Amino acid sequence: MDIKELKASVIGEVEAHRHQLRDLSLKIHSAPELGFQEVKAAGWLSQYLEKNGFHLERGICELATAFRGRYGEGRPAIAILAEYDALPKLGHACGHNLIAGSAVGAALASKPAIDRCGGSILVIGTPAEELYGGKIIMAERGAFDKVDMAMMVHPGAHDTATTQALACLSLEVEFFGKAAHASTRPETGINALEAMLISFAAINSLRQHTKDKSRIHGIITDGGEAANVVPAHSAGSFLVRAEDDAYLDELKEKVLNCFVGAAAATGARLEYQWGKGRYAPLRNNLTLARLFRQNMRSLGRKVQLSGSSRVGSTDMGNVSQIVPSIHPTVAIAPEEVVIHSSDFASAAASEEGIKGMLDSAKALAMTVVDLLANPEIVTKVKQEFGQGK
Ligand SMILES: [Zn+2]
Ligand SMILES: [Zn+2]
Repeated sequence: MDIKELKASVIGEVEAHRHQLRDLSLKIHSAPELGFQEVKAAGWLSQYLEKNGFHLERGICELATAFRGRYGEGRPAIAILAEYDALPKLGHACGHNLIAGSAVGAALASKPAIDRCGGSILVIGTPAEELYGGKIIMAERGAFDKVDMAMMVHPGAHDTATTQALACLSLEVEFFGKAAHASTRPETGINALEAMLISFAAINSLRQHTKDKSRIHGIITDGGEAANVVPAHSAGSFLVRAEDDAYLDELKEKVLNCFVGAAAATGARLEYQWGKGRYAPLRNNLTLARLFRQNMRSLGRKVQLSGSSRVGSTDMGNVSQIVPSIHPTVAIAPEEVVIHSSDFASAAASEEGIKGMLDSAKALAMTVVDLLANPEIVTKVKQEFGQGK
């Protein structure tokens, strides 16, 4: 069987599972679960994989809703990552139900390629992308140590083979002041809210002088209790993002100084805590991305190598620092529909969404064929990864 025939057979496998994949993704969509609570989604996905000949390990990395399904024993071991967590209030407004369906579909479809060429295919179920960065924890706990490369496709508004994602760190801040009557004895108070407002002003001044693609944004979670009481406490949550790790370290200090300065100005005491999980920037393996693009194009999609300059962060960044990775985007909605909106949640359950999921599964499985049938491409993928280190 040549590569062309093998690709035709993996496409046929996705088609054979299309109704079940559709049902799985719509079922997850209609029962949205938040990060680390994805009991139903993880259960349904692992059950379907097991039913189709995959060896399943549930609750890996000491995370109840993480799992690993494996078919084949050899190397290369190619991991397809599934996400399945939803957003508070918005449900599947990031379309992770489609990521789950495409991962399972791609893995099932890869079976003929494994049978024929050797190697192994893994579905790694990675919970809590949105709220806790599940892959950061899983990467630390060794989930990707025996993996040769990792791939996943995220839904969006464009077909692109690479994604830009920033290094990102969270910061929790509190100011402690002193309450007083705001009118009769203001001179005895220490205003914790003013410290927070000065911090925002200082960050806004800093923003003019930061490098491109840096992002600093936050919210006030406590701004006092009553207008006639000098706020004794204020609190805020912030995210600091940068294009690379070195600049994030630099920016971190500058942002912190905004709060330190505000504490000095007001006399309020500052307490802060940087987030434990740090999102790494995404390294796109271009050898893999080009293969994927070619396979998507063969399905009739006009895929660009790189897309919009709109940048967020993803825990796939941390995986991409350990193994060669891709995180392409598949278009399931028009450009004006932004992710994390209720319109995008609808798109994630639409026929266009299902088509995007099935095309992603096919292109991923075809990329698996390219890799398994051409050991020299695997070498090239690894060389590129090694050079970037
Ligand atoms: Zn999201
Ligand atoms: Zn997402």
